[in-house]
Amino acid sequence: MAATKRTDVPLNLFRPKAPYEATVLYNARIVGKDAPGETMHMIFNHDGNVPYMEGQSIGVIAPGVDAKGKPHKVRLYSIASTRYGDFGDGKTVSLSVKRLVYEDADGKEVKGVCSNHLCDLTPGDKVHITGPVGTAMLMPEDPNATIIMLATGTGIAPFRTYMRRAFTEKHADYKFTGKMWLFLGVPTSSTLLYQTEFEEMMHNHPDQLRCDWAISREQTDAEGNKMYLQTRMKEYAQELYELVTGPAKAHIFLCGLKGMTAGIDEMFGELFEKDGLNWNDYRKAMKKEGRYEAEVY
Ligand code: FAD
Repeated sequence: MAATKRTDVPLNLFRPKAPYEATVLYNARIVGKDAPGETMHMIFNHDGNVPYMEGQSIGVIAPGVDAKGKPHKVRLYSIASTRYGDFGDGKTVSLSVKRLVYEDADGKEVKGVCSNHLCDLTPGDKVHITGPVGTAMLMPEDPNATIIMLATGTGIAPFRTYMRRAFTEKHADYKFTGKMWLFLGVPTSSTLLYQTEFEEMMHNHPDQLRCDWAISREQTDAEGNKMYLQTRMKEYAQELYELVTGPAKAHIFLCGLKGMTAGIDEMFGELFEKDGLNWNDYRKAMKKEGRYEAEVY
C-alpha cells in the first residue's frame, strides 16, 4: 500500500446524517480486575471504506435519542490503530475506550451514552461511525523526528499508532529513523494500557524508543509526592529541555484528560524560567512550527 501524503489526509468522508455502518470484530477489556474503571480495545471492520491516518479520530453515533428526543450527538474517539489497522489489511479501525460511569448529585449512577454503547458491543454488532477528523495530532512526516509523547489513560491511542507505524509495521516506502519517548500516566499498574506491546517495541528498538510510566496511586517521588506524569518528567527535566530547545528540535504531543496540561505547563514553565525563557511563548512558537499539539478531553 502506498504511503498517503499529508495533502491526501482523509477528512469527513462520513457525516452524521450518513454515517458508515461498520461491523464489530473484536472488543475486549485491557485493564486488570482491580482497575478503577473499565477500558476496552475494540476493532471495527470498514472494508477499506474509511481510510485514515495516524493521529486522527473518528466519530461514533450511539443508537437511540437524547432527552430532547433528538438522535444522539457524535462523540469523538482517537483512533488507536495505524492506517493499516491492527490486522495490516487496511480494512479495520481500532479504538481504546473508557466506560464512563459516575454518580450524580443525588448519588444515582449515570452511564455515559456513547462509551457504554461502545464498551457493550460484541462481535457482529453494527456501529455507526463518522469522519475521520483531525489534522492537529497527525504523526510528524519527518521519519527522523524526535517525538515526545505525553499521555494519560486513553490518551495513549494516537501514540500507539505512531509507535506501531515506527516500530511494529514494516513498510517498503517508510522507515522511522528518529526517536520516540513516551510518558504514560495512569492511576494503577493494572491500567497501564498496551504495556506488553510497548515493552516489546523497546526491547527491539532500544536506541529509538523510551517509555516511562507514572502510576499515581502506587508510586511516589523521592519526597513522597504522588507520581503524576509531570512528576515522572521532572526526573528527566534537563534531558527533555535539551531535546526541545536543542538541535533535535523535538516535537511534543499531549493527549488525554483535560487536567493534564496544567501540571505539564508548570513543569516546563519552571524549567524554561531557569534559562530566562518563557514557556508560554516558547510553546506558542513550537505550535506555529508544528512541533507542539495537545488534544485533551
Ligand atoms: P456522555 O453521555 O456524553 O456524558 C458525558 C457528560 O457527563 C460530561 O459532559 C459531563 O457533563 C458528565 N460527567 C462526566 N463525568 C462526570 C462526573 N464524574 N460527575 C458529574 N458529571 C460527569 N474517550 C475515550 O474513551 N477514548 C478516546 O480515545 C477518546 N478520544 C477523544 C478524542 C477527542 C478529540 C475528544 C474530543 C474526546 C475523546 N474521548 C475519548 C471522549 C469521548 O468523546 C466521550 O466524551 C466520552 O466517551 C464520554 O462520552 P459518553 O457519551 O459516554 O458520555
